[in-house]
This record gives sequence, C-alpha cells and structure tokens, in this order.
Amino acid sequence: MPLIQRHLFGPGPSNPYPEATAALGHPLLGHLDPAFLDVMDSACDGLRTVWGTDNRRTLPLSATGSAGMEAAFVNTVEEGDVVVVAVNGLFGERMCDVAARCGAEVVRVDFPYGEPIDPQRVAEAHPSPKIIAAVHAETSTGVRSDIAALGELKGDALLLVDAVTSIGGIELRADDWGVDLGYAGTQKCLGVAPGLAPFTISDAAFERRVQHPRSWYLDLGMLGGYVGEAQGRARTYHHTAPTAMIASLDAALRRIAEEGLENVWARHQAAGDALQAGLQDMGLELFAAEGHRLPELTTVKVPEGVDSAWVRAYLLEHFSVEIGAGVKEYANTVWRIGLMGPNADAGSVALVLGALQEALRKVPALV
Ligand SMILES: *Cc1c(COP(=O)(O)O)cnc(C)c1O
Repeated sequence: MPLIQRHLFGPGPSNPYPEATAALGHPLLGHLDPAFLDVMDSACDGLRTVWGTDNRRTLPLSATGSAGMEAAFVNTVEEGDVVVVAVNGLFGERMCDVAARCGAEVVRVDFPYGEPIDPQRVAEAHPSPKIIAAVHAETSTGVRSDIAALGELKGDALLLVDAVTSIGGIELRADDWGVDLGYAGTQKCLGVAPGLAPFTISDAAFERRVQHPRSWYLDLGMLGGYVGEAQGRARTYHHTAPTAMIASLDAALRRIAEEGLENVWARHQAAGDALQAGLQDMGLELFAAEGHRLPELTTVKVPEGVDSAWVRAYLLEHFSVEIGAGVKEYANTVWRIGLMGPNADAGSVALVLGALQEALRKVPALV
C-alpha cells in the first residue's frame, strides 16, 4: 500500500510542520535521559512564548486537548463550586459536561452558534463564581471571542480558557488577559500531530487547586515533580512522557520562534482573509458573524441544493483535500475549512478554492 498524503484542511489535525515530522524520526530518548530533559525544558519555554505567559507551570500534558479540559476542571473544582461557562459552540457545551462531572454547579450562559460570547453577560451570570470558563476560538463555528474583555470583568473568579485552536495561530496573551489557567492541543495551529495538551496555570490558581483531585494521571500537584515546577535533572518519574511527541512539539515551537510568533499570526490572518474573500467571490456565504471570524478556521454555508457529503468526498478523492462538516444541526449545511500551521499559506488557499469550484461544478443536483 502506498502512503497517502492528504491536505488536512479540516478542523484538525492539520498537516504538521516538516520540522515536527522530522523530529519523530530521531532516535528515541528515555524520559529521564538528561538529553531529553533539555528537550522538555526547551519545549516548556517555547510553550510559555506561544501562551504569552511567564507561568512556571506551563507543560505539555501527555494526552490530547480534551484531557487538558479535564485537567483544568478536575484540578480546580470541588463539589458544589460554581462554574460559569460561556457556551457558543460544541466545546463550550463539553466544558459544561466536564465541569458537572467534577461536581460543579454549572451556570451556563448561551449564545447563538456563529456569534461570539458577550463578556458582560458572562461576568454578570453569577455574583461569586469560583471559575469563569470560555473558549477563545470555537472550532465548531469559526468564531473568536474576546478573552481580554472577560479577563477585565472576572473579579475574584479564576479565568479558565480553551485555547486549543488559537494557540500558535492568532493573538494569545494569557498573562496580559488575566487567564489563570488554560489548555490547548498540538494538532491545530501548532502544526504537530495530535497527542499532547499544552497547559498553563498561574501560581495563584495553583494555590487554589483541589488538594487531592479525583484524577491521578492529571493531578497537577503530582505532575509538578516531573514537569512544571521541577526543571532539568531535578525531575522525577510520574508517568512515561511521550518523548518522541515532545521532541516533535519542541521542533515545531522552535520553527515558530524562528519565523517569529507575530509573523506566524500574520500568516494565518492573511491566509484566512484570502480564503474568506475567495469563497465570497464564488458567491458562497460565510457562517460566522462578521468581525469575529477566525482566520484559521472558516465556516461557510453549503449552497442550497448541494449535497455536502458528496462535495467533501469529491475533494478527498480528486484532490486529497480534507475539509470538515458542520457540527450538530449544521452537519449538512456548513463546511469547516481549516488553514492551520504550515497550511496557512497562499498555495493552500488556491488549492482549496480551486478544488471546491470544480466540485461545485460537478455536484449532481439533489432530488
Ligand atoms: C479540537 C478541540 C478540542 C479537543 O481537542 P482534542 O485534541 O480533540 O481532544 C477542544 N477544544 C477546541 C476548541 C478544539 O478545537
């Protein structure tokens, strides 16, 4: 069987940076090898840069972004704690589920899919929550919300942010914005395969954590001996870190640093702008509210009478291009096109626009 090379233009995973892929082929190191611990230190430094934080507890959790979500809540929620969750898409809904399973009294503040959250309404939803949680970049709808504004209104609450699709793609300044704890993923704009959850927590939030969380694996207090607090050789075994994945993450972070983080943000913006202009030139309508659209994840309405799944299958078969369907009630009426990591470039824009044009010319009429 020949290997299949896809253009991963869906909501993630994206194609990794070549440096990240190359690192996976390096000789494997043990998780306590001093040579590996240097890689871990370097990856944690690189993560602080893309998070925009000085938090010493900034680390890659050994699992995907969803485990980051679990870690955030399981380490901070005691039975009965009030958690306000802003919901404007699938990942906000998941936060409600995860927080409730941790015993939280969830105060859910809903916004229409395709619209950003209103920080004022979120902040006013409860007088004294322990946590206010929100998704920075809603991958399910292609919308960016204003985390800085929420940070200004959070009061004594801890601000918990999902940055899975924003990190390494658009402006993210955890410290400046008052983010107390955040989680992310590697397979979106960071341009690394799925498998790690970049995580950050401030000293103040760490002080307010659950002392004996229900999760052993994701217990930040225990993890601190291996990553986060301990540096270099002071580290002790907690679990076997996925050393190849961390080397791959480090390679991508170095690549991003070399290009310059703000240049990487600008590259994502330019690609997203070009894609969104091109789709509108084709007569298509964008789904996310104007002024709040993510450049790295574009949502576009499937034209009336067009079979969404047929088009996606055509793109995959004829162009090796993967795009995503919409979520929930938008499964057949919205497409999601991601241009993340190395895919945020003019060539990818031209490819996906050209491929989509051909598919729309060929699609049989729905009966
Ligand atoms: C992809 C994604 C997640 C979940 O991450 P996994 O790596 O799939 O576990 C969470 N939140 C957002 C906003 C995402 O886009």
